[in-house]
Parts: sequence; C-alpha cells; structure tokens
Amino acid sequence: MLRRNFLASGAALAFARPGFSAASDGKFEITRTEAEWRAMLTDTEYAVMREEDTEKPFTSPLNDEKRAGVFHCKGCDLPLYDAKTKFDSGTGWPSFYDSLPDAIGTKEDRKLLFYVRTECHCSRCGSHLGHIFDDGPAPTGKRHCLNGVSLTFTPEAA
Ligand SMILES: [Zn+2]
Repeated sequence: MLRRNFLASGAALAFARPGFSAASDGKFEITRTEAEWRAMLTDTEYAVMREEDTEKPFTSPLNDEKRAGVFHCKGCDLPLYDAKTKFDSGTGWPSFYDSLPDAIGTKEDRKLLFYVRTECHCSRCGSHLGHIFDDGPAPTGKRHCLNGVSLTFTPEAA
C-alpha cells in the first residue's frame, strides 16, 4: 500500500514528459484568456491549474484542514469537494474519496511514459485539480489526490 501510494503520487512524476498542457483544451462554461488567468493567479497556481503542474507535497495549508465545510475551485468558485469526504492519505496532498455531483471532469493523462493516470479538473472552468487513483478508502475506493493551490476552503457556518 505504501509503495503503491508512493509510486502513484510521487516518484513517477520524475519521469513526466515536459511541456504538455491540456487543462484548457475542452469547452467549459467559464473560459478566460491566458492573460486573464495570469492576472488572477500566482505563478504556482497558474502552472498547476492551467498547465497541470503538481505542487510540492506537504506545502498546502489545506492538507491539515479538518473543519467541516466545502472546498471550492480557485478558478471559478464552484463547490467541488465536501470536507466529509477528505481523508489523510499521507501523500502530502489534500485527498478525498469523492467529489460533489457533476463538480469535476476527468480525462486520461498519458504524460508519464509508462503509466496512464486519470486527470481531474473543475467541470466549470477546466482548471486542473489533480489525479484520481484506485487505492482510496471505502465507500468509493477512490483517492482524489489534489493540489491545494487549486482549491479554496469555506468552513461551515457554526
Ligand atoms: Zn473552476
């Protein structure tokens, strides 16, 4: 399990092919020009959300976010993940076992030379979120391994 997590989320990235972008290929309800995205995002956010880069593990404050609430897309504020489905995967990236209905889209990611992954992105603006793996907990068995920089968190009103 540990080894599988490690391969799936970290080590394999060392073999990633450079310069391949697909986050903005699809047709989405919310579209922005590259200049508009760059104006609203930091360089790191742009690289992750619009070019499918991956943030360094254990860098997102959302890793340790344990309150009730909802995680939204940083690109368009669409609610994506309920905090109820968040779990500690030990990978260093915010991890969930399920998304909210119709919140995300997926596609095959063949950037790695020997390993096809399922990429996931916001269904409304196409911003890259992370990848989905099959080694998550019940009830779905899925692990949505997300970049914290792609998300904002709104705590539930007390
Ligand atoms: Zn979005």
